[in-house]
Amino acid sequence: MQNVQDYISKNKERFLDELIQLLRIPSVSADSAFSQDVIDTSEAVRTALENAGCDTVEICETDGYPIVYGEKIIDPALPTVLVYGHYDVQPADPINLWNSPPFEPVIKKTDTHPEGAIFARGACDDKGQMYMHVKALEFMVKTNQLPCNVKFMIEGEEEVGSNNLAVFVANNHKKLANDIILISDTGMIANDVPSITTGLRGLSYVEVEVTGPNRDLHSGLYGGAVANPINALTKMIASLHDENNHITIPGFYDKVEDLSQEERAEMAKAPFSLDAYQKALNITSVDGEKGYSTNERNSIRPTLDVNGIWGGYTGEGAKTVIASKAYAKISMRLVPNQDWQDITQLFKTHFESIAPKGVTVKVTPHHGGQGYVTPIDTIGYKAASKAYEITFGKKPIPQRSGGSIPIVALFEKELNSKTILMGFGLDSDAIHSPNEHFGVWNYLKGIETIPYFYHHFTEMSK
Ligand SMILES: [Zn+2]
Repeated sequence: MQNVQDYISKNKERFLDELIQLLRIPSVSADSAFSQDVIDTSEAVRTALENAGCDTVEICETDGYPIVYGEKIIDPALPTVLVYGHYDVQPADPINLWNSPPFEPVIKKTDTHPEGAIFARGACDDKGQMYMHVKALEFMVKTNQLPCNVKFMIEGEEEVGSNNLAVFVANNHKKLANDIILISDTGMIANDVPSITTGLRGLSYVEVEVTGPNRDLHSGLYGGAVANPINALTKMIASLHDENNHITIPGFYDKVEDLSQEERAEMAKAPFSLDAYQKALNITSVDGEKGYSTNERNSIRPTLDVNGIWGGYTGEGAKTVIASKAYAKISMRLVPNQDWQDITQLFKTHFESIAPKGVTVKVTPHHGGQGYVTPIDTIGYKAASKAYEITFGKKPIPQRSGGSIPIVALFEKELNSKTILMGFGLDSDAIHSPNEHFGVWNYLKGIETIPYFYHHFTEMSK
């Protein structure tokens, strides 16, 4: 691969500028107040793909936000890479915890990013990482070094469950046909410890509603005599874990594969400092399932967490009330082999069964997805590993991630191809949190590494 570093150093300011412009548009898919901004972002992505050298770019309408599809086919006999990413972002709340406005990007130096990081919602997840692929394409096209065909599918509903993407993929097998899928929507261990994510957890997300009396009641007149939905809900939630932090839903662990001691030993080689981990979060102790390390708890083990809980009076001062209803949003991270729809059903059956007298319980499934594993003996993984070896000067570590990208398992089922998760973000980049950022070094390193993947994947496919 000739002069990729040259090309990057000549165009660095423009590459940063273009990303900053994209980050200025608040494409929050979860909040309809931003719907025009989400649409505007899809248009900006379309223009970016056209400018980078795609021959065809279309905005594909769905029942929700559009999918931007672009392609450059140089020879149908050559392999085809399909790049997936998303242009929507998480809500910026709580805004008051941001040190600079979430949609006014600024570059600031940090301890982990001495060369500076771009602070903005979506900087790392996923606009910055998605845009690395657009700029890598620009480099390959402008220097006549694109070795194979490429397709882009950039969606606007990843942060709200990708429901319409699933329909789009199911209806467009031919258009999306490919030999390998490339996604940068995960992280790596550290800038000097490159890693490639080989496993993802699945997800089941539910909302629960507990109803007691038919209206809010005076807590003096009725307190102690009728079931309080908030008391009931918190008790029910507390019972979902036992004293060892095992999840108590019957059948929950039935399909969970226990990793061999050898594989657990391999995993344990990834550098990890419990002390630094605790310091970074300002906590005095970690907490989790008995018998597993922190790295195992957040990658190869399933979990259950309350993501939000509300009910009753939460305004200023006091209001002595027994609320009629209480609510919670609950997510379960699952491991490969656990079927998310089965788990959702197990949760529902169990949660309804533990409702105390005097309240009724409604469980509404939101969304979910299967877990996923990429074997490291595939051409795709080997080509990616080679690419990292060239640009980082060392072999990447294959790593299981605790996050979920439900669409990855769906791609395998629908398109029959494997996915390579080339993430260049760091865990400390605060994705989904206030002050999300993406290292300038990481952004440029991604742009540098991606063309080597294309090169080696095409070579190895011959
Ligand atoms: Zn993402």
